[in-house]
Amino acid sequence: MPAERSTYQSRRKRASEGLRARGLAALLLSPGSDLAYLAGYRVFASERLTCLVVSADGDATLVVPELESPRAKAVAPDLPQRTWNETDDPYALVARLVAAPGDVAVADQMWSLFVLRLQAALRGRGFQLASDITRGLRMRKDAYERDALRAVSAAADRAYPRLLEREFAGRSEREVGAELAAFLRDEGHDEVTFTIVASGPNGASPHHETGERRIARGDTVVLDFGGTREWYCSDITRTVHVGKDVDDEVRKVHDIVRRSQEAGYAAARSGATAASVDAASRHVIDEAGYGERFIHRTGHGIGLDGHEHPYLVRGNDEKLEPGMAFSIEPGIYIPGRFGVRIEDIAILGDDGRAEPLNRADHALAIVR
Ligand code: ZN
Ligand code: ZN
Ligand code: ZN
Repeated sequence: MPAERSTYQSRRKRASEGLRARGLAALLLSPGSDLAYLAGYRVFASERLTCLVVSADGDATLVVPELESPRAKAVAPDLPQRTWNETDDPYALVARLVAAPGDVAVADQMWSLFVLRLQAALRGRGFQLASDITRGLRMRKDAYERDALRAVSAAADRAYPRLLEREFAGRSEREVGAELAAFLRDEGHDEVTFTIVASGPNGASPHHETGERRIARGDTVVLDFGGTREWYCSDITRTVHVGKDVDDEVRKVHDIVRRSQEAGYAAARSGATAASVDAASRHVIDEAGYGERFIHRTGHGIGLDGHEHPYLVRGNDEKLEPGMAFSIEPGIYIPGRFGVRIEDIAILGDDGRAEPLNRADHALAIVR
């Protein structure tokens, strides 16, 4: 569900300002989140070129295959279109829309099929990444986006306690994952993007692919799941234990991760660097002697994409600002045995403080 049309117009105006400030001629966006952000048009990528051309002078035109023109008109009636039919050259069409001198910026995830042909059609111009312009806009969520993120996170939160009521022991990761996906849809997700169910030793692989392993009593299980509601993403991780006989080290590690996550939250405020949040979370785990077992960054931005700027990682001196939304997700992974991760989404309010969007219980839940 797109925002108001005027929202997209003002976003495009700011993108044009960004182009002028950098001396660029145009922004060329194929289907993806930048296009959705600037036009309110979400469409699958295909071999037929769809390209939003935002020029430095403020004009925006959607180059669209004729057969998809009605669909684009329906959601973005204010956006001028240039349609092309099956035998036209859409690259020449784009090139004619790029009038001002200078380089162009193309969507980070534009297919090479399009990039190479656009480079040929726009010979002589340099190509840069669109994210240099769009990241600054997309990182600072407006009121509409903050509400959208709150709603989708709350939907993920509601799915979690429902899963805790269910039996884990004896079922495969895939079965539990499918059930979790159904709960996510039922609680308000339009799409479920991923349900990681990483049981026992599989928990030591942060991006484990949910599979056929049968979950057993005594397993620690990492549950990392999310999807979209009205285009905005959720992403939450909780770690549970099957049966109440919990190994001492599992309890200890869970407690360290919980404290590490809280330290990340405490550090996340406007004016702090992205790296400082990572450092605060990492410090707790380092002190506890598990530094080597925390094998990823502390978090990532979230919005129209599940992973976007800002990245909470060592070396990122970008300063956090009101409106930025990101995960805080430290973990400890013990190869061959188990893993623990706790992840919430936080958003910085206008007061500069982190508002937790996920409120599901952090405790090590005991499941059947
Ligand atoms: Zn991840
Ligand atoms: Zn996650
Ligand atoms: Zn995440």
